[in-house]
Amino acid sequence: MNEAVKNSIAQIALMFPFSMLRGNRRYPPFLPFYHVVGNEKLPYINSYRVRTAAEFEKELDYFLRFFEPVSLKNILEKHDNRKMHLSFDDGLVECYSIIAPILKRKGIPATFFVSPGFVDNKKMFHRFKRSILENEGVLDKGGKKYFFYEEGELDQLAAKHGIDFAQYKPYMNMEQLHSLHSDGFLIGGHSMAHPEMWKLNEEEQFSQVENTMQWVEEHFHPGVKAFAFPFTDDGLPQSLFARLKKSGIVDATFGTAGLKPDSESINYQRVPVELRNWRVQKTLHFEYFYYFVRSLTGKNEVKH
Ligand SMILES: [Zn+2]
Repeated sequence: MNEAVKNSIAQIALMFPFSMLRGNRRYPPFLPFYHVVGNEKLPYINSYRVRTAAEFEKELDYFLRFFEPVSLKNILEKHDNRKMHLSFDDGLVECYSIIAPILKRKGIPATFFVSPGFVDNKKMFHRFKRSILENEGVLDKGGKKYFFYEEGELDQLAAKHGIDFAQYKPYMNMEQLHSLHSDGFLIGGHSMAHPEMWKLNEEEQFSQVENTMQWVEEHFHPGVKAFAFPFTDDGLPQSLFARLKKSGIVDATFGTAGLKPDSESINYQRVPVELRNWRVQKTLHFEYFYYFVRSLTGKNEVKH
């Protein structure tokens, strides 16, 4: 379904009160996720609009009208339609400086999915490098994608134009992560350095999860071993999930396809709040109404 049709579905959905849309049907766990909240434009983020702290708080308040925020363990063990669990991907420093203080004040549990390769600003996500080069006018916006194995080309372009990626410090350091952990937030894995997983073979895909979760386990020993696939879990084979399940290295994995059930018992889909430039009411109403519309055609489940 294309974006124009989705927009029409969202407009219809907005005509109903949310409690009526949700009704008494059984839905998958409601798992909205974000990346970052900030009051300034971030030069390394072009792919979504960054919410201000005030906007973010308003969105949380809207969620809290209809959902009880619970821990990941709680929602996975005993799910009902009125629970939600929030998560944040990529381990950006605003998770520590802006997001966590707001969540603590409101008593909202959350999971932070981080890539060990980026912690302490050791390395930068190749898409961030591309955004910086776009904003510096070196690359055209909406041009070549640049996959993880083409990162060298981005480094060369930066060097040629005198741009130093190391001056940007987008990520949390180890101390900040430990602080989140001791405040009761869950730390999960998000791959070693955010590769396009569908460009890897199955052995490499497995290693990404394994190496990341070993690092998470070693440093945080979390109560739930959670891994969020970078970008998307679309196209990841059933055999990978079977192997992950058997290995015991993860308790649950996460995709980004919206409110949808998944064919894999350990895999859960999250709702990307920042994906469209919609206000959160529209996203929430859309997800539940879209679920209903798709359930009529029997096409709800994400299959691997
Ligand atoms: Zn990510």
